[in-house]
Amino acid sequence: MRLAGKTALITGGTSGIGLAAARTFVREGARVALCARDGKKAQALAAELGPGSVGVHMDVSDLDSIAAGAVLASEALGGIDIVFANAGITVFKPFADWTGEDFDKLFAVNTKGQFFTVQKAAPFMRDCGVVILTGSIAAKTGQPNMALYAASKAPALALAKAISADLLSRRIRVFCLSPGPTKTAVFTSEGPFANGAEKALATVQARVPIGRAADPSEQAEVALFLASDASSFMLGTEIVVDGGKSQL
Ligand code: NAD
Repeated sequence: MRLAGKTALITGGTSGIGLAAARTFVREGARVALCARDGKKAQALAAELGPGSVGVHMDVSDLDSIAAGAVLASEALGGIDIVFANAGITVFKPFADWTGEDFDKLFAVNTKGQFFTVQKAAPFMRDCGVVILTGSIAAKTGQPNMALYAASKAPALALAKAISADLLSRRIRVFCLSPGPTKTAVFTSEGPFANGAEKALATVQARVPIGRAADPSEQAEVALFLASDASSFMLGTEIVVDGGKSQL
């Protein structure tokens, strides 16, 4: 029970890596606030997680919604120990096709949304808490069709360092978790590959030294490590969980 008695606010909590983290955190004794644009879905999934966890409406592209969601989550949980700012959108396009709208949309969620999730939740955090920002190895490996997605994910590491400094006096430690290819909605027909999701997964998996994409639970186990006392002498740093894709 590595998170016994702890509470966690998780954005993007109703699917993929966020939901896997919620299940892992609850397994280890935490109560969580699943934050999502679909508040009803968040409530239903939180009820499945067990007593003490809650679902909260939060659209991270809207600062008022983030602020309101942080208040609700904190009230329901009785304070917050862990913030997992994980909500994100993935868009891939050929270089010449990107529009100003794409730019604004990606940065509104992946960068602005992430920063303000932490800023609005921080007043409700207990000292010695942990913040995890989801980055991406797309920010460190030059790959075609990913320019604006990669750019919108690069700030996660800079924010982890700068916010660690801002929150140092409260001993809140901030991390960037940078996943490589992970089998979530990104690799379904809902994701950026649309009709070619299966082919895209096979192509991507062939480029991962370990030979496969991650299961979301493998990202969640690393988030658990960061959120727990096991990472007590770490802060302001990045952990890459990519099967070696950005390393070999
Ligand atoms: P996912 O689509 O299951 O999760 C993304 C979540 O963010 C969804 O629940 C979605 O509803 C939520 N979201 C999007 N816009 C939102 C908004 N405005 N307000 C609130 N919530 C919003 O996919 P995932 O793979 O679990 O993604 C989680 C994080 O991991 C994202 O930040 C993504 O960029 C990152 N990531 C994923 C991969 C991968 O291969 N799956 C690789 C690197 C990084």
